[in-house]
Amino acid sequence: MYSPPATPAEARVDLAAIRHNVTLIKEAAGGAELMAAVKADSYGHGLVPVSEAALRAGVSRLGTAFIREALALREAGVTAPVLSWLITPDEPLDEALTHDVELSASDVRLLDEIAAAARRTGRTATLHLEADTGMSRGGSPPAAWPALLARALELRAEGVVEIAGLWSHLACADIPGHPSIARQLEAFETALKLAEQAGAGGSHVIRHIANSAATMTLPEARYDMVRSGIAMYGLSPVPELGDFGLRQAMTLVARVGLAKRVTEDSGVSYGHLYTTDRETTLGVVPLGYADGILRHATGRAEVLAGGRRRPIAGRVCMDQFMIDMGDHPLAAGDEVVLFGPGDDGEPTAQEWADSLGTITHEIVTRIGARVPRVYRG
Ligand SMILES: *Cc1c(COP(=O)(O)O)cnc(C)c1O
Repeated sequence: MYSPPATPAEARVDLAAIRHNVTLIKEAAGGAELMAAVKADSYGHGLVPVSEAALRAGVSRLGTAFIREALALREAGVTAPVLSWLITPDEPLDEALTHDVELSASDVRLLDEIAAAARRTGRTATLHLEADTGMSRGGSPPAAWPALLARALELRAEGVVEIAGLWSHLACADIPGHPSIARQLEAFETALKLAEQAGAGGSHVIRHIANSAATMTLPEARYDMVRSGIAMYGLSPVPELGDFGLRQAMTLVARVGLAKRVTEDSGVSYGHLYTTDRETTLGVVPLGYADGILRHATGRAEVLAGGRRRPIAGRVCMDQFMIDMGDHPLAAGDEVVLFGPGDDGEPTAQEWADSLGTITHEIVTRIGARVPRVYRG
């Protein structure tokens, strides 16, 4: 049933799809706990509504990149455990501790900053120590791991921190059979063993390394908890292996702002990359690269308009792009679907990602703040 959006465009988020996906991921995770990755505004789907839906569906923990994302959850009244893993200098550590945000630490410098915040606030910091097992992003490299453990244990003895988790992240879990996967899992085992020997292990410590791709394809990587983002939004973590039964949660729609007949040989948009080859109807769609519709979607991505797939005609502008309808009817106010689950013939986010040479994470997280998120289900 069509109900026109109040704004020229909206991202519809199907919370029933999120719940369905959580159920599937939990099955794939076996008995492991499920942390939902809700960084970057829940991958563009809206931080709080998605987090609440995920928790209701059986997610037990939330994960954000930045502390301020975790604090936004607390401000909204979300009380579930939240871990923040991207902590740069001058982050609000005191506030994180007073609001029970769990913190990842990769080096002694940060451990000492966290300890200082714990002494200031009188709160015990809940730590997840991150090992770099071969991605070379966050995490302690193997050579620095023993010193990190030693410092964390000293601080634990002082009562300012507790060690709640030991974790790492895989670089190539979405490339089945990639040789780095086994190497990283082996390095993780080594890091865990050292932690155990040093006294930082134990059954209360949560070990976690799997993202969505690893959750769906690598049972040996589940450990005590998996951290899933993209699969929860219903987008395949390993597109070459299919959709795993996941259901895309986001549908991006816009209403045609202007429809008009133009003559043959009309140059369309900046640079005239597209020229009409006959008299035709053009539709102007009020979404542009400021809203996350990549400028190079020109001539690549398709939308569903008037029941038909139409390519983007000419350059995507900052706020708008054009489609060429030929002689098919189109009127101002008609709904255009950029992507959705595909049920009505609209392109999926995966098709957009494929046609633009990127991953679905980038397609959905880039949808800008001007586009309202509307929830159903
Ligand atoms: C984003 C992120 C995840 C989730 O990854 P998906 O591939 O979206 O499942 C898990 N762990 C960390 C550390 C992340 O940054």
